[in-house]
Amino acid sequence: MTLDDIPDIEKAYGDEIDRLLLQIQLKEITLCETCDTFFKYIPQKRFCDICKVKHEKERRREYAQRPEAKERNREYYKKNREKILERSREYERRPEVKERRREYAQRPEAKERRREYAQRPEAKERNREYYKKNREKILERSREYNRRPEVKERKREYERRPEAKERKREYYKKNREKILERSREYAQRPEAKERRREYAQRPEVKERKREYNRRPEVKERQREYMREYQQRPEAKERKREYYKKNREKILERSREYNRRPEVKKRNRVQQREYRQRPEAKERKREYGQEYYKKNREKILERSREYHRRKKGEEE
Ligand SMILES: [Zn+2]
Repeated sequence: MTLDDIPDIEKAYGDEIDRLLLQIQLKEITLCETCDTFFKYIPQKRFCDICKVKHEKERRREYAQRPEAKERNREYYKKNREKILERSREYERRPEVKERRREYAQRPEAKERRREYAQRPEAKERNREYYKKNREKILERSREYNRRPEVKERKREYERRPEAKERKREYYKKNREKILERSREYAQRPEAKERRREYAQRPEVKERKREYNRRPEVKERQREYMREYQQRPEAKERKREYYKKNREKILERSREYNRRPEVKKRNRVQQREYRQRPEAKERKREYGQEYYKKNREKILERSREYHRRKKGEEE
């Protein structure tokens, strides 16, 4: 098809087309070989600027596919590794680049692609390998990330949502044994123990614990537990063992304790209170009769001695 085949256009743009054809003949302008753009005539120039860039790119891509080009690239990379990496790191650090990446990563199709990729066996294998090699580094980086205030806040905000709570419950139900096992395993590690010790030493933590232990319901629960615990055969056995080994020390400590004035006073008060109770009176009566029967002579002798002494004092 030539311009002559389009009479309407020729009528409408006749003058314009004539002018362009004339300019082409005079070598003032050229029509691009791959699009409808005219550009200023330059000898040997066949494409407009846009098409030229496009063709250049294509040519470069084709060239880069050739084995000798690949080899040369590899060589170049090996020699300039650090420089290239630094430049790339510098590029990745730019705010606009980061922002663009974030924006892209959030898109549904990108997420889908990631998921799909992660499911492949070779990807899984590679991840496992990488994790094994870099475990400490990864964990440290993740801990550092989780410590950031904005991350913490975001996490808290997320965990408050009902669907997150529901998901957590579901997950826990499904993986209960695994979670417990892992947490037990973690609790045994030296660094976890150290962290617990350090935490328990903090004044505010101690104070909180004291406050907690003072609550009546907590005390009651602890007493209940101790009662239950002391009934167990192994606890009894352990107690017996302990007592046997430390008999003298325990007795001495108990004597020392009971000699303290405030303890003596408390004991006296408690004894008086105890003796007032009906069951104590009853027991005393029973015990007293039995005791009297058994020790009749001794009691009588002591009583006689008491009266003799009293008489002696009076005289
Ligand atoms: Zn063009």
